[in-house]
Amino acid sequence: MTRRALASSICLSALAFSLPAQNSGTPQSVFGYRDFSAQAKIDQQFLAVPDAKLAGEELKTLTAAPHIAGSKEDHDTALYVAEKFKAAGLDTSIVTYKAWLNLPKEIHITATDASGKTLMTGPTPEHVDGDPFDDDPRVVNAFNGSSPSGDVTADVVYANYGRPEDFKKLDDLGISVKGKIVLTRYGGNFRGVKVYIAQERGAAGVIIYSDPSDDGYFRGDKYPKGPYRPDTGVQRGSVQFLFKYPGDASTPGVASTPDLPESKREKPETAGNMPQIPSTPISYHDAAPILEALNGPTVPHEWQGALSFTYHVGGSGSVKVHVVLQQDYAYRDIWDVIGKIPGTEWPNDWVVAGNHRDAWVYGAVDPNSGTAAMLETVHGIGALLKSGWKPKRTIIFGSWDAEEEGLIGSTEWAEDNAAALAHAVAYFNTDVGVSGPNFDASAVPSLKDFVREVTKEVSAPKGGNVYDQWKKSQSEGESRRHSANEHMGQGAHKEGDVEIGDLGSGSDYTPFIQHLGVPSTDIGSSGPYGVYHSVFDNYNWFIKNADPTFVYEQQQARVFGIEILHMADTDVLPYDYVIYGKEITEYLNTAKKKADDSKVSGLDFAPALTAAQRFTSAAEAAHKKQQSLPANPTELNTQLRQVEGDLLSSAGLPKRPWFKHTIYAPGEYTGYAAVVIPGVNEAIDAKDSTRGSAQLTTLTEAINRAASTLETTIK
Ligand SMILES: [Zn+2]
Repeated sequence: MTRRALASSICLSALAFSLPAQNSGTPQSVFGYRDFSAQAKIDQQFLAVPDAKLAGEELKTLTAAPHIAGSKEDHDTALYVAEKFKAAGLDTSIVTYKAWLNLPKEIHITATDASGKTLMTGPTPEHVDGDPFDDDPRVVNAFNGSSPSGDVTADVVYANYGRPEDFKKLDDLGISVKGKIVLTRYGGNFRGVKVYIAQERGAAGVIIYSDPSDDGYFRGDKYPKGPYRPDTGVQRGSVQFLFKYPGDASTPGVASTPDLPESKREKPETAGNMPQIPSTPISYHDAAPILEALNGPTVPHEWQGALSFTYHVGGSGSVKVHVVLQQDYAYRDIWDVIGKIPGTEWPNDWVVAGNHRDAWVYGAVDPNSGTAAMLETVHGIGALLKSGWKPKRTIIFGSWDAEEEGLIGSTEWAEDNAAALAHAVAYFNTDVGVSGPNFDASAVPSLKDFVREVTKEVSAPKGGNVYDQWKKSQSEGESRRHSANEHMGQGAHKEGDVEIGDLGSGSDYTPFIQHLGVPSTDIGSSGPYGVYHSVFDNYNWFIKNADPTFVYEQQQARVFGIEILHMADTDVLPYDYVIYGKEITEYLNTAKKKADDSKVSGLDFAPALTAAQRFTSAAEAAHKKQQSLPANPTELNTQLRQVEGDLLSSAGLPKRPWFKHTIYAPGEYTGYAAVVIPGVNEAIDAKDSTRGSAQLTTLTEAINRAASTLETTIK
């Protein structure tokens, strides 16, 4: 019997606990544990429980109907998850928040040429022959969350990916987007950033389409033959300015509880994270006639997509587009499902693990592959509870709502529980749990080695353990998240070790790490996935392309569970601040070089570099203290946890004070990708040396605060 067959046939009862270990090598000792052998037995009991077949059934149930945030079907999934939490023995509640959300009441797009001839009318409904899900009347039309309503008729300019450098290129070509409709393709940055820059430049509206070169036929066979986006597939998505602040628009920094009065809320229509120009997404089926009719200069070579004609930038009156968007805005109820297991020894030290549940449509991959895996993690931890085990620290599972509209459920809950989370020991996120076989992770530096260790304990369907396969897929370049992060300063990883990305944004870890300083990780397993945020991200696509036997669901449940169990029960918290110190030093050196290269003068990096050196030295001493495993580690643990909190600045980042972390933030002009030491780097990008100096001072103070706390661990 292969390992794979064994793993998926293990029965679910408590009897399974007597089965031999089916992982591929339990380590003798693990950083932070006085005696790992007892934990290893608990891990083995846990690992035997998450079940591939059950994960598949849970995924099928969760994705049976479209369940956009705030809908009846979304509420049904909350009840379902709550039942599963309760059955596992979790203290379960459904927490309601109020969120300012739009649904598309009416969307029309018409394009005409200079002679008034109609080129296209849309949007065309998403459809392929052979998909059992796409014609359901509950499917919500493709739209952009947080877009205002609008009725705009204007000339069209093609702006490639809508990145700062793309708009700069248009300047060079002498093409203005002022008063125009910007037609931009998905990719390269967060869609809200495309709208943000277009708005800054006076555009009248934005249309965002998926080019077949990015996730369609140019990449491989399209669905239903293969995993890539078919002609009518549209990527829905939020254009909220989440790099200003995520969560409900009317309550930055405050929980949007149902009883919070209007007087305590900002006016949502004009709130700081709401775009002021209308935008909407379309398919390449609908974009092609517009693009083909554009004239003006031929696009720069890299701007050419995979449609079968030469692209032009437009802006010369050859095409007029009329866009009508009627958004139905209202405060709508959303539902987080919270499941708690009280800790016996350190009940106030929370280990929080979460995944969002709401989907643009069916969300088989995004996010319910993560939800099904989380339910199997809960299943495994429930079996431990039934055997009499209790965690030392409190474990909290969160099934977040309205992530898609702007990380709303997680942000509101985090803001609601900010005081308790100030000493939460970790937040573990999963969003897209499984879109294929390639495991990958992002984490705060102090938890990078922790994640590596955890993956060594879990067997992989292809043989060996998850860590081995992860390393293999990275060396073969299959890992997409890795390549997306490769320029972001990961020089502190050990030679030959797997690389772990930095946390940017685009999922629910953002309020935990970047607003509250809770050490966080994000894990998932990826593969060719061209149907993101379309009706085709459904159960049928999933079983054809992602994980037909749900063994990667099982793997995901196991890795997620071991993360939680280790953090809940470790004696000494296993943060590695030596790696953190080295990464900060590298970020500073890279920023210094950038300032020199771009001739931004007057920035003195010496105090920050000295502080980083002090941090690293103190971290080395603290590391020895951690390895010495003091008999009563409570004080040491408190100090270790405080270090991440010391890296927050109370003022937050310039013009976006909600983002308090001095080392990591989503980029103002990237959105998803992390910007490291953001205050300093963004000041250099803006060639603002006054702001850069002030930000270097703030950063130096934060690093020195953290270093000072690390020094107290050995006093
Ligand atoms: Zn998601």
